[in-house]
Amino acid sequence: MTVDPRPKASHFIAGRPVEDAAGDPIPVIYPATGEEIARVHGATPDLVEAAIASARAAQEDWAARPGVERGRVLRRAADIMRERNRELSELETLDTGKPLQETLVADATSGADALEYFGGLAGALTGEHIPLGQDWAYTVREPLGLCVGIGAWNYPTQIACWKAAPALACGNAMVFKPSETTPLCALKVAEILVEAGLPEGVFNVVQGAGEVGHALVTDPRVAKVSLTGSVPTGRKVYQAAAEGIRHVTMELGGKSPLLVFSDADLENAVGGAILGNFYSTGQVCSNGTRVFVERGIKERFLDRLTERLEGIAMGDPLDEATNFGPMVSARQREIVQGYIAKGQEEGARLVHGGGRPNRPGFWIEPTVFADVTDDMTIAREEIFGPVLSVLDFDGEEEAIRRANATEYGLSAGVFTRDLARAHRVIGRLRAGSCYINSYNDAPVEVPFGGTKASGVGRENSRAAIEHYSQLKSVFVRMGDVEAPY
Ligand code: NAD
Repeated sequence: MTVDPRPKASHFIAGRPVEDAAGDPIPVIYPATGEEIARVHGATPDLVEAAIASARAAQEDWAARPGVERGRVLRRAADIMRERNRELSELETLDTGKPLQETLVADATSGADALEYFGGLAGALTGEHIPLGQDWAYTVREPLGLCVGIGAWNYPTQIACWKAAPALACGNAMVFKPSETTPLCALKVAEILVEAGLPEGVFNVVQGAGEVGHALVTDPRVAKVSLTGSVPTGRKVYQAAAEGIRHVTMELGGKSPLLVFSDADLENAVGGAILGNFYSTGQVCSNGTRVFVERGIKERFLDRLTERLEGIAMGDPLDEATNFGPMVSARQREIVQGYIAKGQEEGARLVHGGGRPNRPGFWIEPTVFADVTDDMTIAREEIFGPVLSVLDFDGEEEAIRRANATEYGLSAGVFTRDLARAHRVIGRLRAGSCYINSYNDAPVEVPFGGTKASGVGRENSRAAIEHYSQLKSVFVRMGDVEAPY
């Protein structure tokens, strides 16, 4: 039997589910059928206040606990998430439409990895001793205070955990607002954290669209904002946070290049392009949507790619044999269809898909364009759907120059058997998360994040600790104070 998607209440504040039917209704639509499966309410100003007040009230006590104790709570939560992986994966599938085949291995499991990793680090957050001759100084790593997390809709469980785990490990409290498109999963994360022993108020969830996010970002009690979302939203949130000199982490969009040289292992390169364009129906920020293929192997690459796309199993996302789901919403499908039409109008060659399967829900075929040029809209703008563009190139210099000619800088990939070339090329690509003979790996041990318009700061790894804590420097004089008068 599939999990019941209806939450106990819309919000989670001060350790318990909270409802306020006065907030705007937000229907939760199952993308595979278009049916309403649950309904929540956006937070009213009173609820935003309650969430912020509860986080503020809880934060200092939480920070005062020994790091190992905080870590133990996070590690227990990781264990619970793994025990309930199936239930959480089904909920993620209902919330997003992503196939269960994916959610069983990529969502609650990734969230659990983050909770486990930062749980382990919580007891190891130390400062340093700085000798100064007779005198000395020391540093203390302190939490920032109240952090706000705002999520996108493509990985709702993972995003909540990637933000909560480092924030809580450092002794902060958090108010998290999921995307209004996928409000369900973060509530489960909150429940599990409390079940694992998290004191009430340390992690709160409020629902709502941009205006609720804005109210959180501009509250004077907030010390930090971590957003996962698009570049236009990132600009607004960064600006609003700057007004109060708040810390930020910005995980934004991309238009990442994937370079396939003629000496590449063709099967692996095609596999990388498939993973980097069609996993989660293309709704992945780091996707390598500009696939630059060296001219000599282009037709072979396209033949093999289209052959392998015949292996796509589109269908009921709750059937584990399905490996390709719908788009998250009708709106997102319209956006993607608009780009497919634009690609055809501007002269790109449609070699696969492009259509809209005749079934209820928000389906779109995996789509491949060839002969794409740098000036085409589909080569410049983030589509956030299953649309792969193949661009031809001749030689390393040209590939690097064209790959870098974008305002984005989230990811980049290189497929070649020549490892010297792989490192030389990656060294010159301006992107935060790079892959050699692979694509879209995101283990918690490795920093993740973008350069240029794709973002500020890093999630995962020890690097995330820098973004959820600050250093206090303490100078200690051992002798007398020599004042001039
Ligand atoms: P979005 O920018 O529309 O919304 C993101 C979140 O911001 C939502 O929760 C939304 O309610 C909130 N929001 C909107 N306006 C706001 C405002 N003025 N103040 C505060 N909050 C506001 O993005 P989306 O459509 O949900 O997600 C898709 C985008 O996210 C894509 O661009 C994708 O590349 C990006 N993304 C990035 C990463 C990453 O790690 N770099 C991961 C996943 C998705």
